[in-house]
Amino acid sequence: MDPVVPWYGCAANRLGGIAVPANSCEAFASRGSSPARPRCARLRGPGNPPHGSTKPLAQVMLSAMANNSDSALDKLWKEYGLVFRDFDDLTLARWMAQTLGQLQGRSWRLSHPLLGSYRLAAQLAHQRQVWLKRLANPPPAYLEAPCCRAPFLPLLTRDVKEAGLICQHCNETLLPFDEIPEPARQELGDWASEYEPIHAVAHWDEAQKRAAEDYDEDFEDAAEVAEQLLERLGHRIAPLLLEHYPAVVWEDQDECLAVQPEDFGLR
Ligand SMILES: [Zn+2]
Repeated sequence: MDPVVPWYGCAANRLGGIAVPANSCEAFASRGSSPARPRCARLRGPGNPPHGSTKPLAQVMLSAMANNSDSALDKLWKEYGLVFRDFDDLTLARWMAQTLGQLQGRSWRLSHPLLGSYRLAAQLAHQRQVWLKRLANPPPAYLEAPCCRAPFLPLLTRDVKEAGLICQHCNETLLPFDEIPEPARQELGDWASEYEPIHAVAHWDEAQKRAAEDYDEDFEDAAEVAEQLLERLGHRIAPLLLEHYPAVVWEDQDECLAVQPEDFGLR
């Protein structure tokens, strides 16, 4: 396993950090001759969550990193990450500390290129245990993460009730759901409960699809609702966490419903 490869499943943009155009997926599981939303079959690849489950936890993320390491997208991300391999530990620590300062005070789309770069650096730094060497001081607003002692930079995903907030440095749970401060926890719990059945439409089994009058239409409807819910997550709920943390990252896509970052919330 190469820890530098970001976790991305349909895999590509689940937590990879950089938006990947819809047509960049290697395989589509589209229905009909002119699918409005191409669906990526890579979700069913090894290491990805089983159908019916919307809960790829941290371990699954790491597994996906390992098992999909030969894909073209993984190779591309490895190539992107090479720039940081040329950094010595001190340079890497300084780059990350400076970038954390630039991230401070905002909630960020996971697809933002700056986050993608930071995640590549963070994973390499985790591999080298750079934060334990105390080579550079992050901005003081960032507390130490309990999981890996890197700066506390949480990622908010649709699996927040099960996985809590995810560490951007080691991909483990940074803060369990029950410890998320109010009122964000209540808002997130309500949001996740609302999102779960919408997301589940992408994972209906054959019997459920046959029972539907028009599954394609149900899928489209679910994707449109997911866009609205993700916009609410990013623009109304994630900012609540800024009361407690210097910066927050939120997952701005749903690969199972073919919702891409550019599909919603543009201003
Ligand atoms: Zn961590």
